[in-house]
Amino acid sequence: MTQKHDNLIGGQWLAGSNYTPNLNPSNLGDVIGEYTQASAEQLDAAVQAARAAFPAWSTSGIQARADALDKIGTEILARREELGTLLSREEGKTRPEGIGEATRAGNIFKFFAGECLRLTGEVVPSVRPGIGVEITREPVGVVGIITPWNFPIAIPAWKIAPALAYGNCVVMKPADLVPGCAWALAEIISRSGIPAGVFNLVMGRGSVIGDPLVNHPGVDAISFTGSQGVGARIAQQCAVTLKKIQLEMGGKNPQVILDDADVAQAVELSVQSAFFSTGQRCTASSRLIVTEGIYPKFVEAMKVRMAGLKVGDALAAGTDIGPVSSLSQLEQDLSYVDIGQAEGAVLLAGGERLKLPTDGFFMAPALLTDTTAGMRINREEVFGPVASIIRVKGYEEALFEANNTPFGLAAGIATTSLKHATHFKRHSQAGMVMVNLPTAGVDYHVPFGGRKGSSYGSREQGRYAQEFFTIVKTAYTLP
Ligand code: NAP
Repeated sequence: MTQKHDNLIGGQWLAGSNYTPNLNPSNLGDVIGEYTQASAEQLDAAVQAARAAFPAWSTSGIQARADALDKIGTEILARREELGTLLSREEGKTRPEGIGEATRAGNIFKFFAGECLRLTGEVVPSVRPGIGVEITREPVGVVGIITPWNFPIAIPAWKIAPALAYGNCVVMKPADLVPGCAWALAEIISRSGIPAGVFNLVMGRGSVIGDPLVNHPGVDAISFTGSQGVGARIAQQCAVTLKKIQLEMGGKNPQVILDDADVAQAVELSVQSAFFSTGQRCTASSRLIVTEGIYPKFVEAMKVRMAGLKVGDALAAGTDIGPVSSLSQLEQDLSYVDIGQAEGAVLLAGGERLKLPTDGFFMAPALLTDTTAGMRINREEVFGPVASIIRVKGYEEALFEANNTPFGLAAGIATTSLKHATHFKRHSQAGMVMVNLPTAGVDYHVPFGGRKGSSYGSREQGRYAQEFFTIVKTAYTLP
């Protein structure tokens, strides 16, 4: 018998309409647990509970909020190995990556515990003599949080922590594929001293409860991370109901490698960005844009490095790359390898499903060469361990190709030229730019987000998070 996990609504653990098994993508015979599916009525009850809790929570003392968030962060950090293992078991990133993500989640709660105490306003003179003007920030209200499967504890953390810190109430819907970490996080939150109804967890499919959450009149704002298609749909729906929105979506991130780059460093950061976490990171580099002087050396070194990568069980020691998270994602990844070759690309390495001792969704990371900017493989997000190389003449063409995408999340450059690094930082059309560092891998205390089709609304993380999770009020006083 596997353990059953329920929704958290108004401080109570409630079973939904049915339960679905959460399967380990490294070993489909391993059932992590059964997770309930909320009904539309339960979604409504969760929103009502959050609304009822809002007046008291939004005016509660900042010390109480800081203490609760600190307690949550402390417990996550103390249990980081256990939570990281659960994460690897349900999502498929390696155990060190899972523990790293759990650690990040704990640090985020600690950071926002401090932010509770750092919210400031302004007192400014009025243009009318004798009048005082105060500018303050207040909570938005009930925030609906919708998260994807690829960061099952860090993304919930970086939305929930600021939402609570600034006095909002939350109804959260995690990805249906990976409810385990979200449930574990909800359980920790439920024991933190936060009043019933302030935080609610509803599990289930996006079409069943995500859609009603977005459209619910009792929800004031939606913070979403996921695909561009679902994000655009949510934007349209929220325009009708005039909800505040924050959307973090896909990427087709470029990694530029210039002639003057250190080859070993360029290979390492490209492999890290393109293939670690099974390439399932919105900030993964899927387009390696290489100038012609370094091209032969770089391609050869990539081939050698990729031959040494160990694909295997996410929990096994020594695994570099775990399984793809689901069968449908694996099929998508393999289909893009075929699409790339049909468009004229050459498969340099990998690209096939691997049979390992356990029944899982394993795939050899794929690298395609001889690709051009117009190919689908260079325009559409694959979201798996599939990368392509675009050969260019020099820096100007590399910059052009880096920006030649409807996305704009992250961009990287490998170079020893200060001139080119400086120019790239200024002229890259991405929200986050890395020099001699992988595009994937960011700090938790500074803003995160992109441009163009990758992001919509204000930034997440760091103190910039207050822009979304608060509303500015201007008050005038004639004493
Ligand atoms: P997705 O299919 O768009 O799903 C994201 C979330 O939206 C899930 O919880 C999903 O629920 C829910 N959803 C689906 N349909 C919905 C609807 N009609 N109304 C409301 N909610 C709905 O994305 P994914 O496959 O989970 O995640 C991969 C994508 O996320 C990639 O594009 C990746 O680049 C992006 N991502 C972006 C960032 C960033 O910060 N920019 C970070 C991580 C991932 P179900 O799970 O039940 O379908």
